[in-house]
Amino acid sequence: MNLRRPAELFENLALPHRLRPPQSYIVVLLLVALGTLVRWGMPTVLEATHFLAFYPVVVFAAILGGSGPGVLAIALSWVSVSFFFDYTPGTLSLGHPSELGRLLVFVVGGLGVAVVSEVQLRGRERQERQSQELMRLTQLTNLGPFIIRDRHDRITHWSDGCARMYGIDAKDAVGRVSHELLQTEFPEPPEQIYKTLRETGRWEGEVKHTKADGSVLTISSQWVLQNSVSDYAILEICSDVTAIKRTEESLRKVTRELRRSNQELENFAYIASHDLQEPLRGITGFLTLLQRRYAGRLDEKADEYIRYAVDGSVRMSQLINDLLTYSRVGRKELTARPTDMNHVVENALINLRTAVEESGARITCDELPTISGDQLQLTQLLQNLIGNAIKFRTPERTCLIHITAQKVDDHLWEFSVEDNGIGIEAEYYDRIFVIFRRLHSTKKYAGTGIGLALCKRIVERHGGRIWVESNPGEGSTFRFVLAS
Ligand code: ADP
Repeated sequence: MNLRRPAELFENLALPHRLRPPQSYIVVLLLVALGTLVRWGMPTVLEATHFLAFYPVVVFAAILGGSGPGVLAIALSWVSVSFFFDYTPGTLSLGHPSELGRLLVFVVGGLGVAVVSEVQLRGRERQERQSQELMRLTQLTNLGPFIIRDRHDRITHWSDGCARMYGIDAKDAVGRVSHELLQTEFPEPPEQIYKTLRETGRWEGEVKHTKADGSVLTISSQWVLQNSVSDYAILEICSDVTAIKRTEESLRKVTRELRRSNQELENFAYIASHDLQEPLRGITGFLTLLQRRYAGRLDEKADEYIRYAVDGSVRMSQLINDLLTYSRVGRKELTARPTDMNHVVENALINLRTAVEESGARITCDELPTISGDQLQLTQLLQNLIGNAIKFRTPERTCLIHITAQKVDDHLWEFSVEDNGIGIEAEYYDRIFVIFRRLHSTKKYAGTGIGLALCKRIVERHGGRIWVESNPGEGSTFRFVLAS
């Protein structure tokens, strides 16, 4: 069976249009003139009913032009009868009382015909408008790739979209078994697909189709069962997702590659820093021995050089230790458990006890929630942030630190650590989170620049994010968002 192309289905639906003014009025005039001539030529027996000749005039006028021309035809017919055929020809009058009944019947009958014709014409016009709209829609739909198949999987309709996508014309596709034509590769046994289709009326999945040029497309295919009383058909909508799949695959490859090289780098940083520790420990040990044994025995320059060498090796071992800590956070599997953040802060403060006492810092903390996370890493995070708030305080005022948390949505909490320290210029907001990046010399503020990089890594490993807001000279607020 070959379904006709959609446009053809509607070609015969176009109906004659109603006559519009002025043509409709000219036609009415001609019809009335014709009626008048017919009335003139009427045999004497029929003359008693003047309007007999004008009934067809009104009917034709109404059919061709609707109620307006119909009413006009009634009026002009009366004028013609009154002027030419009445008892008093040459004048316009309602005529003899015996004629009034016939006039009334003519007018009422004529109006009835005019109204019926108008209703019919309007109905026809509406139908025409709808079919034009339907044709437009169908032509538009046909641009998309879809197939209609009968119960034997023979193609009964092959849209323009399919012709373009597969490079196969409708004439070569219609009548063919679709899976043979397209060499379909199904994601599951076809029997299973048809079972689902029968049970639910739908099926969707990814199939492979072969184009006319032999290339294979990945198609996201949606099947809809179209049931009729005696038979059924299957509508298959085919979306070409080959490019998307290809991009997804290459993205997956790149991600795999990135993950691998990241892991390698991580391992490298870990092994390098771990293995460097041993020889460095030796160098530091011997330098310290050298300093102890020969300090003051050589000249001043030698003492100075030895001091530099010792300082350098101590700093280097600090850096290596920090690097090791940093890469450990990345290598270790995250053990996320419900973690009470009040305990986390308590632990961090125990670790910072000396710094807190020496600085005289006043630390306040609101009631904090329990979230899902790694307790050790979260302690490291809070310890770094509070430690920094103490370290970067101003000598002019008491160091005040406030820790709080607020819910941002059902599962997210925003924590903040606020201080009244030296603050940070906006241009450094990003840079301070990069490993070993510092804004001050070690003489002024001790440290290696690992703290915030570690914080960022911990927060990101927990699926959150961290940022800073600050007013230089007034203080900073470090905020991070974590899921509960
Ligand atoms: P470190 O503390 O070793 O310098 P961090 O990574 O912890 O390394 O911090 C990076 C830089 O960010 C610091 O050198 C400092 O300039 C700035 N910074 C961090 N915390 C604060 C703070 N609370 N107030 C002002 N500046 C800060």
